[in-house]
Parts: sequence; structure tokens; C-alpha cells
Amino acid sequence: MSLVINDLHVDVLTEDGPKQILKGVNLTINPGEVHAIMGPNGSGKSTLAYAMAGHPKYQMTSGSVTLDGKELNELSVDERARAGLFLAMQYPVEVPGVSVSNFLRTAKTAIDGEAPKVRTWVKEVNQAMGALGLDSSFSGRSLNEGFSGGEKKRAEIVQLQLLNPKYAILDETDSGLDIDALRVVADGVNRYTGQGDRGVLLITHYTRILNYIKPDFVHVYVDGRVVTEGGPELAAKLEETGYDAYIAAARANA
Ligand code: ADP
Ligand code: MG
Ligand code: MG
Repeated sequence: MSLVINDLHVDVLTEDGPKQILKGVNLTINPGEVHAIMGPNGSGKSTLAYAMAGHPKYQMTSGSVTLDGKELNELSVDERARAGLFLAMQYPVEVPGVSVSNFLRTAKTAIDGEAPKVRTWVKEVNQAMGALGLDSSFSGRSLNEGFSGGEKKRAEIVQLQLLNPKYAILDETDSGLDIDALRVVADGVNRYTGQGDRGVLLITHYTRILNYIKPDFVHVYVDGRVVTEGGPELAAKLEETGYDAYIAAARANA
């Protein structure tokens, strides 16, 4: 049982045709582990997240991703979610006309195969929103429409808490958060991982969030592949050195 990325190559479909972004990513996330992927802008972190979630613009051309033995590439977006995969997007999509509460209920129903019991569900939703510092009036608003950057990120973690997937990919959930919001969001992620058997792929550009969410493993990611791996100490080192040396080394190898 684990989420295994094996020599994954991914093309993004652009107007000029397919463009290779991922060039052989290897990474295994076991239940109970938090993995941080850190890399410069444009290195393909979101591409990895989208490809795993099944975004149609991102095509796995070779290699594989398996979730507890199931080949993700053979599953639809919905099937991936039902298999236990969750993606908190870097840029959550605005969905006018669909309320937060409707969205959450629909997602929960799709994943569980049955609608949640109304009374306990409403309580759970209010509790999850409260824990993320969101007023309960939020549930009546259109999903992400007019939300501040911080509110969008908090809403993603509300989803994480309520859907409680086996594996969560969190794509720059820390970006655009002030220090208080960062703490609230990190607490939410820590409640999720505190269950002990969940796997997290935490994608980030900055080491800041790793002060609040302790990774078991850190992967430095440049130009579509992992170039160095280590424990939490690697994040501290990155804080001092930045990405430049890794970028230069990746260029020299290309
Ligand atoms: P990161 O998340 O690490 O900042 P991305 O995965 O967003 O990186 O982008 C990786 C590279 O892929 C970038 O050069 C970006 O311009 C390119 N890219 C991603 N999506 C598209 C797209 N839809 N069309 C064209 N280029 C894309
Ligand atoms: Mg980016
Ligand atoms: Mg990104």
C-alpha cells in the first residue's frame, strides 16, 4: 500500500503541440509519510500534481503512478478521487452558482457512494470550517468566487478534512498566506496527518511552511525531475543556499 511514482514522464498539451515537462520522476509515499517537494518556479511541480489528478491537458507519456496498486492512468478523475487521491490546487477554480456546501456534499457523496447523513454532516461541515477560521456563512457562497487567496486555501483544507483521502497532494497551499493563516492551514494539515496512516505530497516553493508541517522526506525538484533527496535538514540547507546550485547542475546535465 503506497503511492508510487515510477519514472514518470509527462507532456503538457499546448497550442503548439505537446511539450515535455516531467522527465522521469521517482517518488514513493507510504501511508503515514509527509514528503515535501521543493523547487523553483516553472520546474513542473504543478504539472506533477495535475498529471496525478488526471487533468486532461497533462499526459503521462511513460512511467507510471500507482495508488495502492491501482494504475492511475487507467482511472478517470472521479475514480482517482474514489481510490483515495486528493489534490489541493495551487489556484483553486472559481465555480459560480455552486455553493460551498453543495460542492462539499456532492464531493462527499461521490467519494463514499452514498449521501452523508444530513444532521451529522452539517455539524461536521461547520466544525471543519470553524477549525479553518471560516465563518459558517461561507457555506452559502459560490465556491471560491470572490474568495481571497487565503480563503481559497482554507477552503481547500476544509475539503481535505471532510473528504479525508488516503493520499493528499497539496500544491503550494502555503502561497499567499499571511503568518496567521499559514498556522491555521498547517494545523488543519497536521490534524489530517495526525491520523497516522495518511500520505502527503506537500509541494512548496518556500521552506516557511515546513516550520509548521514537519516533512519526513524532502525532495529537491528541478526541471521536471527530483535532483536531490534527504530528510528535513535538506529544507534547512535550501533556506541558506537557494536553488541556484541545483539549477546550474541540472543545466549541466541536460
Ligand atoms: P511549477 O508548478 O513548478 O511552477 P508548472 O508545472 O506550473 O511549474 O510549469 C512547468 C512548466 O510547464 C513551465 O515552463 C510552464 O510554463 C509549462 N506549462 C505548464 N502548463 C502549461 C500549459 N498549459 N501550456 C503551456 N505551458 C505550460
Ligand atoms: Mg509556479
Ligand atoms: Mg506550481
